[in-house]
Amino acid sequence: MQATTAFASEMTWPAYDAAVKNGTTPILIPLGSMEQHGHHMPLHVDVLLPTEFARRAAIEVGGLVAPAFTYGYKSHQKSGGGNHLPGTTSLDGATLVAALRDVIKEFARHGVRKICLVNGHFENSWFIIEAIDLALRELRWDGVTDVKIVVLSYWDFVGPEALAQLYPNGFPGWELEHGGVLETSLMLALHPALVHLHAAVDVAPATFPPYDVYPVKPDWTPPSGTLSSPKEASAEKGQILLQVCTAGIVKALVAEFG
Ligand code: ZN
Ligand code: MN
Repeated sequence: MQATTAFASEMTWPAYDAAVKNGTTPILIPLGSMEQHGHHMPLHVDVLLPTEFARRAAIEVGGLVAPAFTYGYKSHQKSGGGNHLPGTTSLDGATLVAALRDVIKEFARHGVRKICLVNGHFENSWFIIEAIDLALRELRWDGVTDVKIVVLSYWDFVGPEALAQLYPNGFPGWELEHGGVLETSLMLALHPALVHLHAAVDVAPATFPPYDVYPVKPDWTPPSGTLSSPKEASAEKGQILLQVCTAGIVKALVAEFG
């Protein structure tokens, strides 16, 4: 059935029910965080970006986008600046696992058999896997054995060719991309009114020792909160990312869901 919106929550229940009950329509669930992203971007970058990738992919594959997870697992100092920073508002790992497990099981109850988890916050990664494992285990106990779940983080679809275009002066690595060229370029392409580039702080890529300390040492994180500079970000780079990542996600969903 052809829906008039990609967002499941904008549908009436009969339209939603008709779309999902036979199990053929994939549901895409964006997962983000409320987390500081430097002086130049809002706290919901990690929600806005996977939601848009999910929306674009859903249109291509005839899927529906579920309401996003707007809180995520705690920010890690080496990939998100740290959970001690103002604005960053996080869940305990067990809370995220339990909530996502419940949501997966609810969609399965509706008849959904194809689920894609679209992650936009690095620290969620292993808790997503745990939620999938627990949900599938409990569904098996209920005799439901045909649910398939694809899990992905959108940045993993950026190949070497796009990397060379995005980072002509060298790629700092995905972990240091927090609030840097990748996220800022995507935000400039999608939500320019929410980006305050004049307030962006030009920082050298953060360096950390090869171990962690708790409680964290706040002075390990650049004071701006980003782990690399957003200075070379542009809306044009954002368009490249949108194209490359959406195409990669669609290809993955076609391969796995048919
Ligand atoms: Zn982010
Ligand atoms: Mn994040």
